[in-house]
Parts: sequence; structure tokens; C-alpha cells
Amino acid sequence: MGRAVSEPGGGRRAAGASGPGGRGPGPSGPGAGTALASTDRRVGILGGTFDPVHYGHLVIAEEVREALSLDRVLFVPAAVPPHRIGVSITPAEHRAALVELAIAGNPRFAVSRMELERDGPSYTADTLQILANEAARQGVARDLFFILSTEALAGLQGWHDPDRILSLCRLAVVPRPGTPLPSEAELATRFGDRAGRIVEVETVPLAHSASAVRARAGAGLSIRYLVPPAVEAYICDHRLYRSDNPSEDCPK
Ligand code: ATP
Repeated sequence: MGRAVSEPGGGRRAAGASGPGGRGPGPSGPGAGTALASTDRRVGILGGTFDPVHYGHLVIAEEVREALSLDRVLFVPAAVPPHRIGVSITPAEHRAALVELAIAGNPRFAVSRMELERDGPSYTADTLQILANEAARQGVARDLFFILSTEALAGLQGWHDPDRILSLCRLAVVPRPGTPLPSEAELATRFGDRAGRIVEVETVPLAHSASAVRARAGAGLSIRYLVPPAVEAYICDHRLYRSDNPSEDCPK
């Protein structure tokens, strides 16, 4: 399926968010910062391209939240990632709107636009630094867990400043069908003392991928049950991934 394993961010990005439980697309949610409340002590961060968001993302976010007793999971859509330059990518506004729709109704989920609105390159390490700085400003002792799959973990050392990433957060690694979790020995070889900051969370394995959703939508095939109904309707209404679908055929 040619899934991307590069760093979720790294393009042009920035600050701004829809607050905890915020719904509507746009930067106007409560708090122009990172969408976190001072009561959010244990926070998961799920970075991704979300082109589009699908049930695979929602399941890992929910199961990690539950397993690690997180107060909040922050979905952070990336700007155009370097590995997708030259590849057609859906405009950030649509991708962020889709995430807003997907998480609506889950008060423990929030979307941050911090990687979409700041000019200049920005990396996961910077995003985590901003979150850590915000916690320090708020005087909050906050534990950050960056959620990523085994597939993404395999490419982590190619990301910008992986050492800083591991100093700023723990990694909550979830299985992705097709990529086994490395053994403890392998993790120790790759990450040394920092290997202890990698937490494995068993989640229900779902083989969903955004590329499969795009391919099916592009071919005029159903994406029902792969994405939430509101996401399916938005994709159809805005003719994402397929320019020739007649909107009268969209699910209401
Ligand atoms: P694409 O198919 O376009 O590469 P994707 O489905 O991998 O996209 P991303 O937005 O790039 O979606 O993923 C964000 C994070 O969620 C990454 O860590 C990715 O590995 C993880 N992820 C996505 N889908 C799944 C899944 N089905 N199971 C476990 N992890 C997943």
C-alpha cells in the first residue's frame, strides 16, 4: 500500500487549536494554544497526515488513552510532510476538518492545528518542545506520550532529532499489521538507555490505511465502515479523492 513511514510533520506548521471537545473546523476553538487544559496531566499525541483520518487512527487513540489513563489525546495533523512533497496531498483545511468530524463526541479527544499554521519547517521534536514549554508556563507537571505504530517506530531514527523526541516524551507504540514490534534487545541496541521510554500498548489490530481509503474512494468504491459516517459524507460532499462523483449520491 506504500504507507508513509516518515516523520508525520516537518513541513510548514504552527500554533492554534480547537479546544478540548472542540468541533468546528478552524482556529477559533477555546485557547489559541495547543488545545490542552491545565487539568490535562497525562496527554497522548497522535501526529499524522490524516489523509483521511480512519478508524485505525481512532481505535489506537482510544485504546492507548484507556491503557495509559490519559486525560486527553491530541490529534496533530501535519503540514505537507517532506516525504509527500511532489505527491498530491489533500489541503490541510480539509484534513483538519475531517479529524474534527471524526473525533466529535469524544470529550477526551482534541485537535491541534499547531503544525498547520506556523511558517517554516517544524518537526515532531519541535511540537513536543512547544507542548513541554506550554506545560512549564502553566506550571503543570505533564506527561507526554507520542503515539505511533510499529511501522512508524521502524523509521524513527530518520526523523529530525529522535533523541530530543525521546527526552521530551515517552513513546506509546501500537501494533500495525505487517510490522512486528522489535524485541527488547533490538530496542536497546537502537535506543540505548532511552529504550525504557518506549511503552508497548496492545491494541486491536486493524489493517486500515489512509492510502487504501483514498484508493477506494478514488475508484468510486465504498469507504463505509472504514471511516466514520461524517467523514465519509464530507469526503463525498467535497469530492475529495475523486473529482467526478455526483454529490447527489453522497450519504446524507
Ligand atoms: P497512509 O496510508 O497515507 O500512509 P496512514 O494510514 O499511515 O496513511 P497516517 O496519518 O500517516 O495514516 O498515520 C498516523 C499514525 O497512525 C502513524 O503512526 C501510523 O503508523 C498510525 N496508523 C495509521 N493507521 C494505523 C493502523 N491501522 N494501525 C495502527 N497504526 C496506524
